[in-house]
Amino acid sequence: MPKKKVVEIPDFIVVRELANLMEVSPIDVIKELMNAGVLTNINQQIDYDTAAIIAEEMGFEPRPIAPPEEEVPVVEEVRPVKEQFYAEDRPEDMRARSPVVTMLGHVDHGKTSILDAIRHTNVWAGEVGGITQHIGAYQVEVDGRKITFIDTPGHEAFTAMRARGAQVTDIAVLVVAADDGVMPQTREAISHARAAGVPILVAINKMDLASANAERVKQQLSDEGLVVEDWGGDVMCVEVSATQKTGLQDLLDSILVLTEFSNITANPYREAMGTVIESRLDRRRGSVATLLVRNGTLHQGDVVLSDDVYGRVRAMFDFRGQEVEEAPPSMPVEVLGLSGVPVAGDTFRVVEDERTARELAEVRAREKEQRAGGPPRSLLSLEDLFRQMRAGEAKELRIVLKADVQGSLEPVANSLQRLGTDDLKVSILHQGTGHISESDVMLAAASQAIVIGFNVEPDGAARNLAEAEGVDIRTYGLIYRVIEDVDKALKGLLEPVYREVILGHAEVRAIFRISGRGHVAGCYVTDGQVVRNGLARVKRGRNVVYEGRVASLRRFTEDVTEVRSGYECGIGLEGFGDFEEGDVIEIYRMEQMSR
Ligand code: GDP
Repeated sequence: MPKKKVVEIPDFIVVRELANLMEVSPIDVIKELMNAGVLTNINQQIDYDTAAIIAEEMGFEPRPIAPPEEEVPVVEEVRPVKEQFYAEDRPEDMRARSPVVTMLGHVDHGKTSILDAIRHTNVWAGEVGGITQHIGAYQVEVDGRKITFIDTPGHEAFTAMRARGAQVTDIAVLVVAADDGVMPQTREAISHARAAGVPILVAINKMDLASANAERVKQQLSDEGLVVEDWGGDVMCVEVSATQKTGLQDLLDSILVLTEFSNITANPYREAMGTVIESRLDRRRGSVATLLVRNGTLHQGDVVLSDDVYGRVRAMFDFRGQEVEEAPPSMPVEVLGLSGVPVAGDTFRVVEDERTARELAEVRAREKEQRAGGPPRSLLSLEDLFRQMRAGEAKELRIVLKADVQGSLEPVANSLQRLGTDDLKVSILHQGTGHISESDVMLAAASQAIVIGFNVEPDGAARNLAEAEGVDIRTYGLIYRVIEDVDKALKGLLEPVYREVILGHAEVRAIFRISGRGHVAGCYVTDGQVVRNGLARVKRGRNVVYEGRVASLRRFTEDVTEVRSGYECGIGLEGFGDFEEGDVIEIYRMEQMSR
């Protein structure tokens, strides 16, 4: 019999360290610990006795050693979502919470079917004969532990939420149909999950079909860099059939193992904060919002604020429609009592009292009004990059790359990556063939990336979204032009180019003197619109007699933010009062141009 390999174990050891010592995957150690009835995560310390049992189970001979002089540092994996929600919490208040899971994958591969199958078989089995209501998320209980599933599958919704503020997902289940294999949206889903830093677990679905071929799927996944465990990688993979309801328990167990591995925690003792999952106006009940608590505990009677919507939680229901008094971290609840309908994907938090909520909501409403009509908030454009890099704000140029054919994708991607330096990395979040889609723009918006198209253009929806979100889309037909532009941006040589966008015209019909405000022109908007804070010039015949900015805009006695064509209004201009009847006021804004 071969001699067992010796591992020397200190009095206490972190799970990850133990795995390193044995040169095995930490996931296997966690699984072994679970078999022994010990639930841990990768960063948790276990004592010698426990570690020794696990080492023995895994074929090693454990031996005690004296503890090292210095303490083993506990490595915390920090993800952006943590910074947003958990930054202020003391480590000793953090407790394990249920994972929040989203199904991603190609259309028709069975995401919805798996969600339904899990819901019907596992929802508090027996307790409520499967009567659930759709509130956008639900929870199942496995061996006394809960898992939260987001009911809207697909990476579009996943990334749209991320673009709005917070990422809710802790674990992505990538659903791949065993007969169909890896498809374009499977690849997209992988890129989206990776860009979000969310661990992926693979579910190969439709295993009941005669044409199912799981090995082929695993091969294709490894081509995408997702190497499953029985191929020697560290990606967990389960084979399921949603229609036959097989493999689902395996899927749930794997989610729990990955949960331990991913160190998913929250502080249940603080006031709640989280994300709006869904919302609507109900004729009988008023504003109905599904909130997913990410940190803290939400109670009936708490005052909730989400952007400029607020209110006291009048009643709260779980996804079975049962009233609950409180919602701990990761629990989705339907909440009644808000003043308006919050936007799905926005974050919410509990504030002290209604007065504070109202004041904060008013500030936000005012900010929103001022932003309206102005340019969209710009994310990271190629021109901004160098400035941000110098200010130490950007360390990475993130790119979503689309090309017409696979053959040109690789060379463009490779050349771009080679441009990166130690100070500024070029990272390609997603590359694929086909036109630039909404989902590409959404990924860029959520990740502060730019979109580069090589021989492809954005479709109409993508163009509109990019405009609204301030995403920089650049399209090229020659490789050297792409490289040149990005290289220039990295070196700070790319100056922004602006162009004028005419918003509308108004004709001066009367002139008033208003005490304290100087001269105001009574106008008729002949085309487009006039906006407050817009840039303006006054044309008299062929001459331009003024260049400046709109200072005030009124309809009757009301201050307004915009007036559309066909309406009358009063316009005041900054530092100008010399209007004449018949003058034309041209309103425009400057827009940064993509080359
Ligand atoms: P989604 O677009 O990913 O949400 O996919 P759906 O859940 O809507 O499923 C697409 C189709 O595949 C439907 O017709 C399902 O009935 C079918 N389907 C889903 N899961 C299975 C499965 O395990 N086996 C078989 N044979 N068909 C399935």
